[in-house]
Amino acid sequence: MTKKGDMLYAWTTNADLAKKAECGGAVTGLLAYALETKMVDAVLAVKRGVDLYDAVPTIITDPKDISKTAGSLHCGTLLMSKLVNSYVAGLSGKKVGIVVKGCDLMGILELAKRNVINLNNILMIGVNCGGSVNPTAARRMIKEKFGVDPDTVHKEEIDKGQFIIEYEGGHKGISMDELEEAGYGRRSNCRRCKLKIPRQADLACGNWGVIGPRAGKATFVEVCSEKGANLLSGAVKSGILATEAANPKGLEIRAKVEGAMLKLGDKWRKKDFEALGEGKERLKKIMAETARCVKCYGCIDQCPICYCVECTTKNPAMVPPGVLPVNFMFHLIRYAHIADSCVNCGQCEEVCPAEIPNALFMHAQQVELEKMFGHVPGVDMELPLLALVEEKEERARLHNTGSDMIYENVFNPLQKK
Ligand code: FAD
Ligand code: SF4
Ligand code: SF4
Ligand code: SF4
Repeated sequence: MTKKGDMLYAWTTNADLAKKAECGGAVTGLLAYALETKMVDAVLAVKRGVDLYDAVPTIITDPKDISKTAGSLHCGTLLMSKLVNSYVAGLSGKKVGIVVKGCDLMGILELAKRNVINLNNILMIGVNCGGSVNPTAARRMIKEKFGVDPDTVHKEEIDKGQFIIEYEGGHKGISMDELEEAGYGRRSNCRRCKLKIPRQADLACGNWGVIGPRAGKATFVEVCSEKGANLLSGAVKSGILATEAANPKGLEIRAKVEGAMLKLGDKWRKKDFEALGEGKERLKKIMAETARCVKCYGCIDQCPICYCVECTTKNPAMVPPGVLPVNFMFHLIRYAHIADSCVNCGQCEEVCPAEIPNALFMHAQQVELEKMFGHVPGVDMELPLLALVEEKEERARLHNTGSDMIYENVFNPLQKK
């Protein structure tokens, strides 16, 4: 009987799924089983769009369609938590299975703290994550560093510290270190990321630690909850999945790789944050960079922590409308509202048309707050600092006035009375 804490090699017995899957197809096999047995009503996962640089989120309700989601897209920089938030009304009361990387999971936990997502209705299958590459940057890297036409690439993978491509006429791998030293490789937030094995999910699946005859043909599964254990036991009983105990040497290797990745995350944090400087120097840099902002609201729309119905940045008393460069207050509001809970998912940077390193700025502040107050966002259900500030009074005011605009009708000369 499978139980929490078990470390297993798992693979699907369905030949079609096994062919399409990244490793052993355990993730897709488990999702198929969860849908077939109505453990979940729907699955939110990712499928390949027009090419391997195009990761498309998809909701699957028919187990026959689940094979479309098999395989890993390392150039897919979607954030699943924000998608759950967007679909939350339609999914209300339904059980949903979601495949989550570390940042997806952290965003989901932060939304659950804010009562936007009910964790009881969610089954989370975690995937280990060494990092993802922005699709446009990936194309440029393949052309300039690999000397290959990105349109001829039909497979990519990140294995043993290398970014590897298969293309018409061959395959080629270059070490991530070399790529990143040259300014290519993973997104900058991914380099700083330190949630590599998402143990807060129900299961944490990956390829690290699969050695011997099962290498490349099985998925390493760490069982992280009772829910995960039940899902795995059921899937094995049904015959869609087979498992065996993980090789002890494989366990050691997995732990070593995780440790090395965490050290690498520390190295990048030090490098990135030191380059930002401190105090006034840091502030000046942030003000200079954010002066390019065109107030498109992309960073707000994509951030899993931004969830207010009425966004304070849209209050004309706080940020004068129709003025560029945008008043710095726009960014200060975001820093004040989010910095304690930023999970460094990178979305605010990913979507910025002005190429402002928003995630770097917010993450740098989050880490400072973490040093001061010890709160680490996204790793458990501990409430953020702001939740402790006059929470009851603030809720009462919201209830009585129906608005989160503290300064409404006070300072705003443009507002109609
Ligand atoms: P499959 O049965 O093939 O299922 C894969 C699932 O992942 C599908 O449900 C698919 O929808 C989902 N998926 C694909 N791309 C994404 C994406 N971009 N975001 C969210 N979900 C996605 N494992 C390691 O051990 N070490 C690593 O360094 C590592 N890096 C990874 C980086 C990325 C960006 C991703 C997506 C995965 C990474 N993995 C890593 C996990 C590994 O690639 C496999 O997903 C895992 O081993 C499960 O294998 P499987 O054959 O059971 O998965
Ligand atoms: Fe993976 Fe972390 Fe990057 Fe998310 S932020 S894609 S979990 S490395
Ligand atoms: Fe992600 Fe940016 Fe929001 Fe931080 S501020 S959680 S990096 S979108
Ligand atoms: Fe400004 Fe960039 Fe945010 Fe748009 S995404 S509002 S340009 S910082």
